Amino acid sequence: MRRKLVVGNWKMHGNRAQVTELLQELISSATQISQGVDVGVCPSFVHLGLVKDQLAGSKLILGAQDLNEQPESAVTGEVAGSMLFDLGVRYVIVGHSERREKLKESDDLIADKLVSAQVNGLTPILCIGESLEQRQGGVTEETVVGQLNVAVDKVGIRAFNDVIIAYEPVWAIGTGHTATPEQAQEVHRLLRDHLAELSAAVAEAVRIIYGGSVKADNAKELFRSADIDGGLVGAASLKAEEFISICKSAG
Ligand code: PEP
Repeated sequence: MRRKLVVGNWKMHGNRAQVTELLQELISSATQISQGVDVGVCPSFVHLGLVKDQLAGSKLILGAQDLNEQPESAVTGEVAGSMLFDLGVRYVIVGHSERREKLKESDDLIADKLVSAQVNGLTPILCIGESLEQRQGGVTEETVVGQLNVAVDKVGIRAFNDVIIAYEPVWAIGTGHTATPEQAQEVHRLLRDHLAELSAAVAEAVRIIYGGSVKADNAKELFRSADIDGGLVGAASLKAEEFISICKSAG
């Protein structure tokens, strides 16, 4: 039985006071969330230390939004996986569509980041998803399987025992247009079936979470689907009450 996982991606939002207020509300309400649900929060790099210091004893797990693919070295402005682990980070998002689009991150680079995350003891949350044009052009399956394959080819199927896949249709991110539970389930199933061709055990165990305008009023229906193991939540994770409600829907 796979544990559900809900992760908040705070993106490039908030100052220290706002982050502290949000976190304190989350911490004080976290007891309402089922023990069977894992919950992560991914603040920006500059707020990781602040959040870590306040998280002690809470069920919330610290995540980061990115890492550099290189080991600690002379790369100005970047952050290595070892630094994140040392700080207490446990999850790290790789391949978010905003980075793929705005920063031109390639599948290859993302696979290298996934390796770096695992080498440094972090659990990568690998984001994959098709654009609106790709969906309308009928190439959703080949797009997401293609993105997944680059990572599988790099690390091998066994490594996916400790990878979380986030299916995030680009047309649903930050747009308010959530995929229907049927649309999401269909892609989650095909991803799991694809992995099963390489390892039935890994395919059964791997958590595939959905991201794209998850909100309090659609989370329950999404999380009820057989192959949706939780959510990666952007905008709605910045509102404590709504995020807690989404987490409760997973329990
Ligand atoms: C995301 O950025 O991963 C995301 C899913 O954002 P939103 O929930 O705002 O669509």
